[in-house]
Amino acid sequence: MPLFLTFIFYLLTNLMPYKKLHAKIKKSVRATNLLEDDEHSRFRVNNPRYRTVLIENIPFIFTCDEKNKLVCRKNYSLIIKGDTIAEVLPSQKVTGRNFDLIYDAGRRGGIVVTPGLINAHAHPPMYLLRSAMMLDEGESVDETIAAMPLWERAMTEEDYALAAVGDLTEEQKSGITTTLSHFAAFAPIEAAARATKQNTINAVSVASNTHPQNSPRLIREILEKHGDDLEARLAMAIHYVYRADDKILEEVKALSEEYNLLLTCHMAESEGVARKCVERHGSREVATLERSGLLNSRTIVSHAVHINEREIEKLIENKVGIVHLPTSNVIHKSGTFPLWKFFDLEKLSSVALGTDSVVSKSRLDLLTEAYQARLTHIYSRTVKFGTLFKMMTVNGARVLNMPDRGKVLPGLKADLAFWKLKDRGFIPFDEKNPMSLLGNLITHGGRTVRDLMINGRFVIKGRRHQLIDESKLLETLQEKHMQMRRRVKKEK
Ligand SMILES: [Zn+2]
Repeated sequence: MPLFLTFIFYLLTNLMPYKKLHAKIKKSVRATNLLEDDEHSRFRVNNPRYRTVLIENIPFIFTCDEKNKLVCRKNYSLIIKGDTIAEVLPSQKVTGRNFDLIYDAGRRGGIVVTPGLINAHAHPPMYLLRSAMMLDEGESVDETIAAMPLWERAMTEEDYALAAVGDLTEEQKSGITTTLSHFAAFAPIEAAARATKQNTINAVSVASNTHPQNSPRLIREILEKHGDDLEARLAMAIHYVYRADDKILEEVKALSEEYNLLLTCHMAESEGVARKCVERHGSREVATLERSGLLNSRTIVSHAVHINEREIEKLIENKVGIVHLPTSNVIHKSGTFPLWKFFDLEKLSSVALGTDSVVSKSRLDLLTEAYQARLTHIYSRTVKFGTLFKMMTVNGARVLNMPDRGKVLPGLKADLAFWKLKDRGFIPFDEKNPMSLLGNLITHGGRTVRDLMINGRFVIKGRRHQLIDESKLLETLQEKHMQMRRRVKKEK
């Protein structure tokens, strides 16, 4: 294709106005006719456009403190102003009731509060592919990667956006408030972040498996055109290091420094991709990133299965963020992440968890992923529940360069997950050792939240999404999925 045609093609496929896309998906799946709070509700709303919120009488809050020590606060209350936690204090110290919204976390058996969980690796538009891949029928990760472009070509930008809404809202139901999305199209993720209010990093691929026309130039164009008007934080992605040539890596470094942009890539997911990097660059992935000046705390690598001891030391020394995806690694028979090597060197503080997409893990939550991490590595040693909790919260915040998230502390963003205490996933527990609740939360698997707050706003109330009509969303996704299947069949 002549150069100018390639350019026009990627303008059309990548710069479709996200506002138009947002308006379109809003029309098809926005929540309407929300029921008034029933008489049992824990909410007392004095001003529907609330800015000040009191969350009172919380039986248990689990969080890390300023020094990243895991603590459990008993019978505490929170005061929220705007999008920020203003105070965390014992319930008896709260004076005054002059708040726009008061949430009684002590009623009807009570609520356990944790920070909103942080998902450091996802591909939200692939949500439409649930059931499209034979996940457990013997395919290796290399075969799945090779099959992917055919499916993704059969999806439209609107499909991507709706699928991303499906993915992000499923994550929200399981307590996730922050997601790093790694994908090749920019607008669908921006539109989905607007529609769901998920705190999102939109890492747009500059060297993609499915969108070969993408390049670092796309990032510059998005920044120039929309820089000041983005809901999601823009970042860069590289599918695998071997997909990028030296020139791309050079431009990625320049962009990363100029705009303080994060970079994410899959790393050493199989022996095959590690080898391909040597074929292209004459060096393995860690060495190639180092030579390109990209081995630093703005870089996040996922999987990191087939890496050696010296490479692990390099990643740690240079404060590179690591995302562990145990379910994906098992499903695709990729190998086992060297978790204990990271643990012995730095207690896993640079290791977060991710969901990957439904092609690798059908249930998009982190609690089951944390449990999978525990089971995967249990023959060597046991990953403690506290460590798993950190991987889902503070480690995620560190890896994604978000020091203002991941804890329930004054001055941090009000991202909170509210878990019903009188629930089979919690009870019975040891009242003398409330940490046993945390073990129950992880091992029971697949809990959903009762309420969810992101940036000081309730996105889920009484298990009901406040922005998206779930019933309409599921109907729409089913219809779009079958349309996609028909297009794939034609192309085959
Ligand atoms: Zn991935």
